[in-house]
Amino acid sequence: MKSLSPKIICRLEALLKSQQSAMLEAARAELLRSDQQSYVAYAGEVPDVGDQATAALLIDFDNEIARRHGVAMRNVDVALARIKTPDFGVCSDCGDDIDVKRLMVFPTATRCVTCEAMREKTYAHRAIPTL
Ligand SMILES: [Zn+2]
Repeated sequence: MKSLSPKIICRLEALLKSQQSAMLEAARAELLRSDQQSYVAYAGEVPDVGDQATAALLIDFDNEIARRHGVAMRNVDVALARIKTPDFGVCSDCGDDIDVKRLMVFPTATRCVTCEAMREKTYAHRAIPTL
């Protein structure tokens, strides 16, 4: 990436670090919450099929939240590791520079707008949330 000034890199790094601590905080809160409400215990105590299904659903929901937290945090870690390398801000698909304005909104972006749009079109049926 040629067009990123040290000032921009500094701002992006600060942005990523604040995202990182916010996500860690959210994950910690999520963990505390699931410690306090054990859905498994709840389902065991109430031998109702509907309640058990609800509990199972909530556990799935929690796993999904945990998975998303994990993916998002990994993306931030990767971006922070790359930020000081020439690879940062370069589209992983076409090798062009990613627009700085895009990076300011999505510092974890690894593709330019064009490639990202192409990818979303291609994988639209999988409904992958993209940053
Ligand atoms: Zn591209």
